[in-house]
Amino acid sequence: MKPFGYVRARTVPEAIEAHTSAPAARYLGGGTNLVDLMKLGVETPATLVDISALPLDTVEDTPGNGLRAGAGVRNSDLAAHPRVRADWPVLSQALLAGASGQLRNAATTGGNLLQRTRCPYFQDLAQPCNKRAPGTGCAALTGHSRELAVLGASPSCLATHPSDMAVALAALDAELTVAGPGGTRTLPVTELHRLPGAHPERDTTLAPGELITAVTLPPATAGAPSAYRKARDRASYAFALVSVAAVLRLDPDGTVRQARLAFGGVAPRPWRALRAEDVLTGARADEETFRRAADAELAQAAPRPDNAFKVPLARELAVAVLADLATAQTAPEPQP
Ligand SMILES: Cc1cc2nc3c(=O)[nH]c(=O)nc-3n(C[C@H](O)[C@H](O)[C@H](O)COP(=O)(O)OP(=O)(O)OC[C@H]3O[C@@H](n4cnc5c(N)ncnc54)[C@H](O)[C@@H]3O)c2cc1C
Repeated sequence: MKPFGYVRARTVPEAIEAHTSAPAARYLGGGTNLVDLMKLGVETPATLVDISALPLDTVEDTPGNGLRAGAGVRNSDLAAHPRVRADWPVLSQALLAGASGQLRNAATTGGNLLQRTRCPYFQDLAQPCNKRAPGTGCAALTGHSRELAVLGASPSCLATHPSDMAVALAALDAELTVAGPGGTRTLPVTELHRLPGAHPERDTTLAPGELITAVTLPPATAGAPSAYRKARDRASYAFALVSVAAVLRLDPDGTVRQARLAFGGVAPRPWRALRAEDVLTGARADEETFRRAADAELAQAAPRPDNAFKVPLARELAVAVLADLATAQTAPEPQP
């Protein structure tokens, strides 16, 4: 590891000032991704601005029944929060599907959203990678791409976005609060991560020095029907091959009143499935509709031979999650 400077910020303005005035600075949340990448030599910040002492570690109700989580809230605490478990189960399930208990105890909301891709070529300094070293090429194009993207990739980059939580937040239409040298702004979480295009080195739409300070969940009806499911190579402690986050509300006549669907593990960013949602909304909530919806979304997929399995896997996972959410709303009440 190379030598680096270290600043422990006490306030948000102090953190932003420290980041903008120091050369090649990075914010340090739980460090579970950044420090790993520093050990590999992939990240070489000259200065770490430690944000773990900032007052961003609380979860609070917002007017109108929403919820705001500070960017420093640990993944374990957000997953276990009683309102998250009751009103946004998809988020709790997604968090618990990620990493391990020990990692979730250290990892923060902001850091989880901004963790870097797990593409093996990105992590290997001996390989060309346009995301790590712009203009060097993409070893995945001719190499191993089993874990990589089938949607939204570009001729420059096939890397997938790794966060489970971000997929749930995309399906929930969560909003971020971001503070930076130019002031504070909000942005939908679906606008945080960008597709690679010709510039895969830019993961997000954040400006230099911008700090995520909070995530806000919009109002939810208590017990809103939502779920997260993740397919992976091992039952735990593995990144998603494909994951699905869904919110599905039915009308009493069995048609879909509201549908929100997002995929993980298939694209360079959490993939909000707007085409599928269009098919679902107002249609009869049955398997035929769910299959049509998934197919409408996945028609855009451009798989490679060794990751083509992700397309049927995503379809079947989406159909299964939607069917379970529908059944839970239409099953007759158990008799006493
Ligand atoms: C073995 C292993 C398995 C894992 N499995 C999974 C998994 O299955 N699913 C999953 O989702 N994740 C998984 N992870 C990743 C883990 O969830 C992330 O490492 C963690 O969430 C990152 O959070 P952090 O606070 O430690 O971030 P850090 O490492 O501190 O930071 C990550 C990045 O975010 C930036 N940053 C941090 N906070 C902010 C902020 N508030 N504003 C602006 N920038 C910020 C940092 O500068 C850095 O670039 C795994 C990790 C490991 C090591």
